[in-house]
Amino acid sequence: MDLRRMILGHFLVISLALNVGFLYRDYCKGNRHYQEFFSSKNECKNASVTLLEASPQPFSSSSSSSKAFDGIIDLDHGDPTMYEKYWQQMGDKTKVVINGWQFISYFSDVSRVCWFLEPEFANSIIRLHKLVGNAITEDRYIVVGTGSTQLFQALLYAVSPPNSSEPISVVSAAPFYSSYPLITDFLKSGLHKWAGDAYTFDIDKPYIELVTSPNNPDGFPREAVVNKKQGILIHDFAYYWPQYIPISSPADHDIMLFTVSKSTGHAGSRVGWALVKDIEIAKKMTEFIVLSTIGVSKDSQIRAAKILQVVSDSHQYKVDFKEGQAFFEHNYNHMARRWKQLRDAVNMSKLFSLPDFPSGSCTFSGRTFESQPAFAWLKCKGEIDDCESFLRGHKILTRGGKHFGGSEKYVRISMLPRDETFDQFTERLSSINSS
Ligand code: PMP
Repeated sequence: MDLRRMILGHFLVISLALNVGFLYRDYCKGNRHYQEFFSSKNECKNASVTLLEASPQPFSSSSSSSKAFDGIIDLDHGDPTMYEKYWQQMGDKTKVVINGWQFISYFSDVSRVCWFLEPEFANSIIRLHKLVGNAITEDRYIVVGTGSTQLFQALLYAVSPPNSSEPISVVSAAPFYSSYPLITDFLKSGLHKWAGDAYTFDIDKPYIELVTSPNNPDGFPREAVVNKKQGILIHDFAYYWPQYIPISSPADHDIMLFTVSKSTGHAGSRVGWALVKDIEIAKKMTEFIVLSTIGVSKDSQIRAAKILQVVSDSHQYKVDFKEGQAFFEHNYNHMARRWKQLRDAVNMSKLFSLPDFPSGSCTFSGRTFESQPAFAWLKCKGEIDDCESFLRGHKILTRGGKHFGGSEKYVRISMLPRDETFDQFTERLSSINSS
């Protein structure tokens, strides 16, 4: 390598490290948004170390990023790096080549309500839902978003009454996904406001209820709980896939959200989709996305389309794949091994407990099994009242129950890190005892 390139290379690394350092310092000084997404405040004690060493942890996506940092095991955010290994095994099957002249236009298909939706991506979504049987796609509009996070915001905009004298209440049954309250109130829009736990909502006014099934953080299947006339339901099906939960029937709701982040593990592509019955809602969502980002990256949609096609191919054209490489089969087995490993560790320690899930028959695989969610909702037993702090004392970073509108005796633990991190975690957990 010549000297100029070497110097430039070092300069880029240093500059990246500094930027990450500044981001991290901002975050630790109290920037709520970073705090919620990346972690709770617990890492800030180490912020000076992180700044000095300019380590990208926890922001980097390099292969060492979720490895124990100074002995710290970070299972706070649900980064789905578990899936890397499977996709590595797929080799060139998912390779996408995009030439410089391709996908230059803002537009994808002007005959659609969502005119920036790539037809190839739309087709791969419909094909996959039909194969898995987890959602009805007929008589629905597909709206693509920069992650289901953007679609959630687009939906809040689309379904909130525009001229009401007060913001519409947004609720979800506790424990609920910790980002819902933050996203709902982030812009203080006046259109909508977070109103907390759906179980305690008892007002005879219009409301929006978020139904996450299976639920983040506790993994249980969910249905609407308020059940009043003036409710608008948003079903978040980020985890309604057969590696996590038996598919009982195709979901058939007015508004349904999906994402590649937790179905295939491609969180970094930032692509999600909504299946929406009402054309007016689909139009308003499209308007929101146009006004915020003028559409969604075509490069990402093309990549996501390829990934979904390979997932379907791995089940429909098994001869082209090695034994045991059908996507949902492979990752069902991976999750099953992890849940067994975690339950063994919890039994050894005796300080913790985990939920038990009902067993159900899966229409996709034909198997009867108990849910094996993407997060573990771990309870500290006995005297330990603040489970997050307790585990932090053992250098295990988790997200405490209060972030989800629940009790501090619980923490949410990501079940989707790389194997080495998960193995370190279960080993450490099993060795924690009351002494
Ligand atoms: N909904 C739920 C329930 C989630 O857990 C997540 C990811 N943590 C999202 C939505 C956001 O997904 P995306 O990466 O597509 O924005």
